Amino acid sequence: MRYLEIANNEKPARFLILKSIPIETLDLELEELIKIHDKLLSRINFESYSLEDISFVEPNLLDLKIKIAEEYYRNCCFCEHRCYINREKERGFCRIKESYYATEFLHYGEEKILIPSHTIFFCGCNFKCVFCQNWDISQVYFNPKIKNRCLKYDEKKMAKIIEFRRVLSKNVNFVGGEPTPHLLSILKTLKYTNVNIPVVWNSNMYLTLEALNLLDGVVDLYLTDFKFGNNECAERLSKIRNYFDIVSRNHSLLDVDVIVRHLVMPNHLYCCTERIFKFLSKFDFYVNVMFQYRPEYLAIYYKDINRTLTYEEMREALELAEKYKLKLI
Ligand code: SF4
Repeated sequence: MRYLEIANNEKPARFLILKSIPIETLDLELEELIKIHDKLLSRINFESYSLEDISFVEPNLLDLKIKIAEEYYRNCCFCEHRCYINREKERGFCRIKESYYATEFLHYGEEKILIPSHTIFFCGCNFKCVFCQNWDISQVYFNPKIKNRCLKYDEKKMAKIIEFRRVLSKNVNFVGGEPTPHLLSILKTLKYTNVNIPVVWNSNMYLTLEALNLLDGVVDLYLTDFKFGNNECAERLSKIRNYFDIVSRNHSLLDVDVIVRHLVMPNHLYCCTERIFKFLSKFDFYVNVMFQYRPEYLAIYYKDINRTLTYEEMREALELAEKYKLKLI
């Protein structure tokens, strides 16, 4: 995995390579900026770069991504809700304007190859999962009574924290809530981050192609959360349209290291777990089958998911993983 080579400081992180690629001007229309972005990105052979090749210039390809993200932020199309609102003034489906975060720390509870992982928990989410286990930071953080649960996000300060924690951390892990609505803040953070560290995008993967394009050349490892095997379960339990179509499309486009997490849910083995495993069998991804589901938040109102898993369900899920020859992690 290239991810491990970056974590061990044998290869440069992709975002550092972007900061070594000069841009003539950022003073162009959005369409022109995107054209230049796509052209330059398609020419980069990330594999050929060594740490010695990294030499920062300004403005650079990461600055260009930030400029494009600023345009998208004012007409928000970061995720497939496609609210097209100006986030400087309004809130869309996710109700997020500027970025807040709940906490950041060295996480020892992630997959073995990730720990210790410097995990940054952003507030707010573009999903409304009725079983959310982090509902206090993902769903209701904007409630004035509990607003102090979240802290104002400062890109420069966070970059310093990332550099400081790199002494022990193997990666920086952007999560939430959901990182997608915070894409602009995350790109800006990396602009100010000057250590070699793999970038982990820990996400529900309901991004638009525009957002995925901005993450191309930034993310070193996608840590994805694949919840539902069909659109209907997603609409009922997470209030999301076209979930499977979008999330499966996005997985098909990933060409860096990927770990897929699937949280097995009670009574959803054949409508969700099996369909996801069947889809994943076409790819060379690592898969983490997770059994820690517990009914939280509003799950009490949904009979099918208002309990923990049975041993029989856990056994069946593992048999399905074996049936589809998944590379379990
Ligand atoms: S991130 Fe998604 S949900 Fe939030 S405003 Fe943008 S398009 Fe809407």
